[in-house]
Amino acid sequence: MDKLELLYEGKGKKLYSTNKQDEVIAEFKDDLTAFNAQKKGSESGKGSLNCQISSLLFKLLAKNNIKSHFIEMLDERNMLCKKVKIIPLEVVVRNIATGSLTKRLGIQDGKMLDFPLVEFYYKNDDLDDPIINDEHCKIMGILDNDKDIEFLKNTAREINKILLAFFDERNLKLVDFKIEFGKNENNKILLADEISPDSCRLWDKDTNRKMDKDIFRQNLGSVVKSYKEILNRING
Ligand code: UDP
Repeated sequence: MDKLELLYEGKGKKLYSTNKQDEVIAEFKDDLTAFNAQKKGSESGKGSLNCQISSLLFKLLAKNNIKSHFIEMLDERNMLCKKVKIIPLEVVVRNIATGSLTKRLGIQDGKMLDFPLVEFYYKNDDLDDPIINDEHCKIMGILDNDKDIEFLKNTAREINKILLAFFDERNLKLVDFKIEFGKNENNKILLADEISPDSCRLWDKDTNRKMDKDIFRQNLGSVVKSYKEILNRING
């Protein structure tokens, strides 16, 4: 499968058309951004690690009946995907309080939540991705019915259950993560984008060492070293 035209370049990936109208190739970049791209960096090898980790997780989810845009990994940096129109929502699931949740509500960092918290953020860089609720989604036409909203929340909770158990067996705590969904040409909602240490917070179960993009956000060292360790732990 060849890359034809560059359709879109995002912060972490480039999307190319292919000779099939309903399939695209996502190329994972080495670029790192944080705080709405105010902090920028790059580390060689990061893109290929995220492509491999993401492919492995999409396959795990497929085995557990979660339908995504993932078709196959073409090589270490390129993923073949079904073409979808991304719903402009970041769906965040949290098991442990950290990051923006602790800042916004004063909840103690590291506190285990009583149940997994699902949040919606409106994907809009100009507005700094504000947190929104179900009614905002409907008022703004992001999703127009309760069924789709419930589907996103329930799928996010289901994904959390699968990933929590999977990472736990590999001595990793899934603190929180962000997922995105898209609609295919038949208006069916599929999980899309990526699931990687750029979009998840993962802590070592024994030491609580941060192994995800917080390493970049907080200048804690090399992300590649840590993402490699995650890939090794989940590959086995
Ligand atoms: N996240 C992401 N992209 C974003 C914002 C958040 O992938 O644009 C992920 C982030 O890596 C974390 C979770 O979503 O796993 C929750 O992030 P939070 O709201 O705490 O934001 P932050 O503290 O990173 O601003």
